[in-house]
Amino acid sequence: MTIFNLGSINADHVYSVPHLPLPGETLAATGFSIGLGGKGTNQSVAAARAGSDVFHIGAVGPDGVWAREKLAELGVNVDGVSQIQTPTGHAIINVDANAENAIVLFPGANVSLSESEISRALEAGKAGDTLLLQNETSHQAFAAELAQKKGIRVVYSAAPFSIEAVRAVLPFVSMLAMNEGEAAQLCAALGTNIENLPVPETLVTLGSKGAQWHGNGSNLNVESFSVVPVDTTGAGDTFAGYFAAARDQGADVAQALKLASAAAAIKVTRAGAAEAIPARAEVDVFLS
Ligand code: ADP
Repeated sequence: MTIFNLGSINADHVYSVPHLPLPGETLAATGFSIGLGGKGTNQSVAAARAGSDVFHIGAVGPDGVWAREKLAELGVNVDGVSQIQTPTGHAIINVDANAENAIVLFPGANVSLSESEISRALEAGKAGDTLLLQNETSHQAFAAELAQKKGIRVVYSAAPFSIEAVRAVLPFVSMLAMNEGEAAQLCAALGTNIENLPVPETLVTLGSKGAQWHGNGSNLNVESFSVVPVDTTGAGDTFAGYFAAARDQGADVAQALKLASAAAAIKVTRAGAAEAIPARAEVDVFLS
């Protein structure tokens, strides 16, 4: 089956700084790199590296030709990635000596796709396919409703967290994915607990404590693997993309949780976002 993903494509500009800049301060960075990132991109790459057919729906600007090419190199179908005049989304990521970060995100082209472009991209979708969504694009609720009507499974990451966005998308969701902080915010806002959220399935990642899936009235947990973390950027996206891909390929929930946990563990041992997500063969070796 196909995994569609209406998702962001960002250039991550990462600066190493002695401390996070204070108001009014000008600070010299001690290191700089540009990588491919964005929650959408990371999830597409994770699902593709896990072995699924992934069709990314998004947009880049004139400065984003390299990002589209890199996404394709990493195994993602980019026929649904438009090249438009608005600048490509980018993140300015300051990382201090304690690996604490502060991020400024410019959405740019990520919020410029129209509903008709999304409909066109989803035209080939059929029952049993999957649509991944996160909160870094526009029109998630529109895409979710359209997908649900076609029998496409909607997997939604409520991140970056926005209660308005979640409320709009939730009625169409098959599985809601969150980290611990997002889950706490959502449960507080809706005055309920994870087990009683109005969605068929939930996936909550718990950082170094693993992850928990809830569905059909039962819970399944997976431990995280013990590794020395270097950079946790994209860990949740690696987990979500691998989990969705494994389910798409017919794995049961326990198998999908284990595969996703291993993939995310390898990711946190590497610096970077999309390009640091491991291929399926590496994950299989890690698990053997
Ligand atoms: P997010 O990146 O969205 O905040 P989490 O921090 O919950 O998400 O991490 C997602 C997943 O990545 C976890 O469920 C776990 O499998 C893996 N992970 C994160 N941090 C570690 C760690 N220190 N050691 C091993 N695995 C980790």
